[in-house]
Amino acid sequence: MLLKFCGAAGEVTGSCHMVQVEDTIVLLDCGIFQGGEERHIRNRQPFPFDPQKVKAVLLSHAHLDHCGRLPLLVKAGFKGKIFATDATCDLTKIVLLDAAKLQEEDAAWKIKRLKKKGEDWSWVSPLFTVQEAEQVFELFEPIPYGEWLEISPNLRFRFHDAGHLLGSAMVELRWQSDGIERKLLFTGDLGQKGLPIVRDPEPIEEADLLLMESTYGNRDHTMGFKECVEKLQEIVKETVHRGGRVLIPSFAVGRTQEILYALNDLVESKQLPILPVFVDSPMARAVLKVYQRHRELYDEEAEQKVIGGDEPFTFPGLKIIETVDESKMLNEFSEPCIIIAGSGMCTGGRIKHHLWHGIGNYNNAIVFVGFQAKGSLGRQLVEGVSPVRIFGEMHEVRAKIFMLDGFSAHADRKSLLQWTSNFVKPPAQTFAVHGEQEASIALVQSLKERFWNATVPQLGQELKM
Ligand SMILES: [Zn+2]
Repeated sequence: MLLKFCGAAGEVTGSCHMVQVEDTIVLLDCGIFQGGEERHIRNRQPFPFDPQKVKAVLLSHAHLDHCGRLPLLVKAGFKGKIFATDATCDLTKIVLLDAAKLQEEDAAWKIKRLKKKGEDWSWVSPLFTVQEAEQVFELFEPIPYGEWLEISPNLRFRFHDAGHLLGSAMVELRWQSDGIERKLLFTGDLGQKGLPIVRDPEPIEEADLLLMESTYGNRDHTMGFKECVEKLQEIVKETVHRGGRVLIPSFAVGRTQEILYALNDLVESKQLPILPVFVDSPMARAVLKVYQRHRELYDEEAEQKVIGGDEPFTFPGLKIIETVDESKMLNEFSEPCIIIAGSGMCTGGRIKHHLWHGIGNYNNAIVFVGFQAKGSLGRQLVEGVSPVRIFGEMHEVRAKIFMLDGFSAHADRKSLLQWTSNFVKPPAQTFAVHGEQEASIALVQSLKERFWNATVPQLGQELKM
């Protein structure tokens, strides 16, 4: 068996690991690199393996940093199957189409600007087009949790619930080596215990090789989910009282549904008055439909709500904004309201427009509900930087900034360690992936204190077993 780290090694994005058993090659994820100027170059570099020889991709979940290079893989000649849970297949389609549309718009905008300046624009092209994204869909093969599937006579796998996002999975790979059965477990992204809607991450008891995410390897969330909901209620009440608006930068897939679920509870139990809540995202409606279609994946609390007749993501006052014109009209809207828009780290998307208009107003509040990567506008705001640059202009930060990290869909330091304590004996080797250097190193340190053999892999590093 040969393992090669092709992304998310010493960093959070670009999740992709190659596993070769005899002559069968599979990929664990094929995610996009995000953040940093060099991402444009990195995403366009050739894969460090031959895509035509890859037999299958085992996709952990639908977030772009896990699935975003799939269209490039297909463009490079990949003809195998993409295995994922049914919900992940559905969500990935929405995510890739949205990304492709943004790429096309970006390229068109760049070309227009260069033409205007009379400069060469022939080098500009979208990373992938809508048509290229659609070619990925034909390769999807949905697999339920727990079902073994043979990729080759000596390589099989099954998915376990990772509790991070609807349909999110860990991948368990098994093969024979010298007459002994070996087992690799890839966590994908691990969810935080007690998150709404999704079930808790499945406990795993054994593995020879463990590839473990470490986004929060060096930090605990300051609040639990319930405390976050209470704090959100307080922030909304105060902001409404001041006549301001609450801006929530949020990923459209997963986090937004969590926030809606929380607001649904607050409004329907009358802990919050009915007020306009705008979800400013063209993909939100499609994602909600997937969440409504896959109720079989809900945790018990969400299931009970549905049985009791509640629609857990819709409540009076909620409006989903789809067109750009509707989105622009929100700038004229003068009543107190809540606006939820992407991207979650304010690196792009409609939230940037809302920040441009609202960040300088003392009455407003900006509520972060997830991880903010280095170099992102979100990270600057959370760290108290002011003024900040938005669309090339400096803006004084007068709105109140809050971080409700308990909404995060990632297990924090304590939960990651708790999850590892399910192992009856330490894996022969553990790799901390999907974390900024400090976070991955911290997780490795904590595991070493428990006498685990753990390291942070380098990008491109190979391991034979
Ligand atoms: Zn994720």
